[in-house]
Amino acid sequence: MKPAPFAYARARSVAQAIELLAHEEARLLAGGQSLIATLNMRLSAPRLLIDLNGIGGLDGIARNDGWLEIGALVRHAQAERSAEIARHAPLIAAALPHIGHPAIRNRGTIGGSIAFADPAAELPACLLALGGELVIAGPQGSRNVKADDFFKGLFETALTPHDVLTAIRVPAADAGTRSGFAEFARRHGDYAIAGLAAAARADGKGLRDVRLAFFGVGATPLRARQAETALGGGDVAAAVKALEQDLNPPDDVQATGAVKKHLAGVLLQRVSRQLLEARS
Ligand code: FAD
Repeated sequence: MKPAPFAYARARSVAQAIELLAHEEARLLAGGQSLIATLNMRLSAPRLLIDLNGIGGLDGIARNDGWLEIGALVRHAQAERSAEIARHAPLIAAALPHIGHPAIRNRGTIGGSIAFADPAAELPACLLALGGELVIAGPQGSRNVKADDFFKGLFETALTPHDVLTAIRVPAADAGTRSGFAEFARRHGDYAIAGLAAAARADGKGLRDVRLAFFGVGATPLRARQAETALGGGDVAAAVKALEQDLNPPDDVQATGAVKKHLAGVLLQRVSRQLLEARS
């Protein structure tokens, strides 16, 4: 199918993009890897597409004050090659190769993935596990929103129709940071049936500040709070058991909720090993 007719504008600055967003039924275009498919299937029919790709300064990766900031227009492939991300956000580095295929990663952007907020996507869960933040520009200026407050519902976020996501920020990993990542997908590169991104701090022989963010098991990436507490106490079996309370995955086209819950337990065992084996 072909998309419904739309007008096109190439924004030259974030301010201009925000100005253009005042037009009714406008949508931002980043890598186009999700948006163009929804247009072609006529799931979405905006009157105006505002292309962000002409805006300079949104494709940087920089460390600042203990945070690693990744610009919204950084492509997945650029992030995969980044030494800064490998060193200071190893969880994101581990997740990136699971996103689609090279052609998709060449165009798709970090900001697009987070803004689109597919519940089975890898990067939203990574951001949540890392306790990251979103930098959002809107008509009233710029604001930072914590990942814990960003994902509101199915494909629904704290972004308003007038906002541009300009960057994400995660605490820069250091020697005490532990992270783990695993997912089940039918084929490598498919959206996950279930996945887990996890972060923690090493604490002697154990872990503290455990954050477990599951994806593919609900409308948004989900923290498993009781399992986090159990894993912080060093009890992997109790953490897996706690998922009974933490998760209630609905059936979807890929698997039943019961299968997803079982897979979540298997993922937690695997990721727990990654977190614990990496202790110094
Ligand atoms: P676009 O498609 O341009 O935009 C997506 C949405 O986000 C639009 O609503 C747009 O308006 C909005 N948006 C984009 N940028 C901003 C911004 N800066 N501020 C505010 N709103 C913005 N993704 C995964 O995570 N895991 C996968 O396994 C995976 N597999 C895929 C397989 C296929 C075959 C395809 C086609 C895609 C797949 N994707 C997967 C999606 C891919 O990661 C996309 O790149 C991503 O979801 C969207 O990024 P984009 O830059 O292409 O955004």
